[in-house]
Parts: sequence; C-alpha cells; structure tokens
Amino acid sequence: MSNLTFGIIKPDAVRAGKQGAIIQKILDAGFNIRGMKLIHQTVKQAEGFYAVHKERPFFGELTEFMSSGPCVVLALEKEGAVKAWRDLMGATNPAEAAEGTLRKEFATSIGENAVHGSDSEENAAIEIAYFFSKLELV
Ligand code: ADP
Ligand code: MG
Repeated sequence: MSNLTFGIIKPDAVRAGKQGAIIQKILDAGFNIRGMKLIHQTVKQAEGFYAVHKERPFFGELTEFMSSGPCVVLALEKEGAVKAWRDLMGATNPAEAAEGTLRKEFATSIGENAVHGSDSEENAAIEIAYFFSKLELV
C-alpha cells in the first residue's frame, strides 16, 4: 500500500462542478487512479470516517458538510503518494494554501476545502478499505 493514498473530492467541489477539473489536475500530476466512484455519505458514515476528530469543536459541522451531497472517493497511486497528494491539495485553510494547489484554487473556507487526503500510509490503507472493496481497485 506504500504507493497508495486516499482522496475525496468533497461535496462543495462537486456542487460547484469542479470534479472534472480536479481529476484532470490529479492526472497531470502523475497519479494513477486505481479506484474512483461517486458516493453520497450518510451522517453516520461521515462520523465513522472522521472518528479521529470527534472531540474537535467542528466535528458536527464537518460531518454534516461531508454528508450534504455527493463526493468522489479516490484511490491514488504514485511514488510517495501520501505526501505528493497532500502537496497537490495544499494547506487545510485555503487562506494559507500555496499558489497552484487545489485548495488555493477550489476551496472556499477552512471547512469547505474541496479535497481530503490521508495523512499517513497507515491511514491511507484504512481509508481506502473504508470506501473500496478489493474488486473496486484496478
Ligand atoms: P486536513 O483535511 O488538511 O487533513 P484536518 O485533518 O485537520 O485537515 O481536518 C479535517 C477536516 O476538518 C478539514 O479538511 C476541514 O474540512 C475540517 N476542519 C479542520 N479545521 C477546521 C476548522 N477550524 N473549522 C471548520 N472545519 C475544520
Ligand atoms: Mg486530516
């Protein structure tokens, strides 16, 4: 799993019709898309996914947002995928995101920030398994 990471094109970006532009940038950056599908999470699924954040003050807002509409879940492959994908995403807060990053271009706030990415190889494996069966990974 070391060359794999997990990503989400969040509901704000899908609502804005930016999923195609984001996928193009992912391909242009040299990622191989091993899994991809459109899902609409329930609040319970979003709470399970973000369980590590359950004590944070924004947990309710975050899980409500993540279940507010369809999103695209992605299994992405590249050498050093976890870091490469976080570099392409940019900082959590779009006000702090570098030029050329997805969050700089597509995020509107620290909460509605267009994309998710795993923060470690271990979490990438857990997060891919949360949304994809083995048969869905090519
Ligand atoms: P990242 O997505 O960059 O890994 P975190 O893991 O810290 O960031 O937070 C998870 C998600 O929770 C963020 O992407 C964002 O959607 C939301 N979030 C983080 N901090 C805040 C905040 N201060 N207020 C509202 N939402 C937040
Ligand atoms: Mg995180």
